[in-house]
Amino acid sequence: MRKAAIIMSGICLIPLLIACGNPPEAVTAADFFAMDTYISLKACGRDAEAAVSEARDHIYTLEHTFSVTDETSDVWQINHAGGQPVNVSGDTVSVIRTALAMNRESGGAFSISLYPVLRAWGFTTGSYRIPQDSEIRDLLRHTDDTRIAVSDSTVAVPADMQLDLGAIAKGYAGDAVMEIMKRHRIDSAIVNLGGNVQALGSRPDGTAWTVGITDPFAPDSLIGTVAVRDKAVITSGHYERYFIGEDGRRYWHILDPADGRPADNGLASVTVIGVSGTRCDALSTALFAEGTQRAVEHWRESGNFEMILVTSDGGILLTEGIADDYTAKSDIPYGVVKRHEEQ
Ligand code: ADP
Ligand code: MG
Repeated sequence: MRKAAIIMSGICLIPLLIACGNPPEAVTAADFFAMDTYISLKACGRDAEAAVSEARDHIYTLEHTFSVTDETSDVWQINHAGGQPVNVSGDTVSVIRTALAMNRESGGAFSISLYPVLRAWGFTTGSYRIPQDSEIRDLLRHTDDTRIAVSDSTVAVPADMQLDLGAIAKGYAGDAVMEIMKRHRIDSAIVNLGGNVQALGSRPDGTAWTVGITDPFAPDSLIGTVAVRDKAVITSGHYERYFIGEDGRRYWHILDPADGRPADNGLASVTVIGVSGTRCDALSTALFAEGTQRAVEHWRESGNFEMILVTSDGGILLTEGIADDYTAKSDIPYGVVKRHEEQ
């Protein structure tokens, strides 16, 4: 898979034959595989080719920094340091600090120290299995984000713990791509990291970017679209990575740290719309684990993001700040969650 990705990346930096802007400028696109997902980048502007090329290289660098399996990555070094502090890059310090803040903000629903439990379920390797309750209980004793120590240049985790940044790394990479685009004076760009979409400015024709929201019960269809400018639109869902157990039930890759089992708190998917990709990515996972009720309370308390929830029984809920930008693509009626609870 990795090899194919490298080959693909070599051939896919495509100056498209369409023009954008006034006076007309080139659109450049790239499609490649990195961070365990398919990535596509598109930018419009005089410097688009250089911007897309730099962004792609930077994604490979971040993939290498945050990988749990690459023995030279920051995360691998942290996980194998026997509890000692490890010197890491500014990117790693920054992303772990945001993750720890989300652990607090979500009351523990978001946890980057779940790695040993994820591994027991086979989500890290694809060798899926349903662990015994006693095995999960034992592993949960080695998960506790409050025991992660971060300084300005080091990270330490206790020797019995390991980290995984899978719930936040792609959002961080998306933010980095947006910064690279801005540095190259690109004012129209979009990046899609396996369903994490981040848009810069508007489409080349000046209209808003339209981002599709996948139907978690029919992942080839959309429940709707949202129109955005300068926003991240990031989804976590039970359809993204899962297996069907011998008992015929579906087990998915977002775990509830409270019991170490796939989070089943009323949600099939959560889409978060906001300015920071890092925060939206962490939030989408956190809110999914929190479940419908706590997610709505979290939104009411926070105020700097909007969300689209698809509930396990097929309902759709939008927060009021995104309702005007939403276009339904299915017949399912949707409810709008208001900032202040109606009596
Ligand atoms: P995706 O990577 O499919 O876009 P997410 O951003 O929601 O979806 O991240 C899911 C990944 O996060 C899992 O594959 C796992 O590595 C990790 N993870 C699972 N449960 C949690 C959790 N409660 N808190 C933080 N990370 C989690
Ligand atoms: Mg996430």
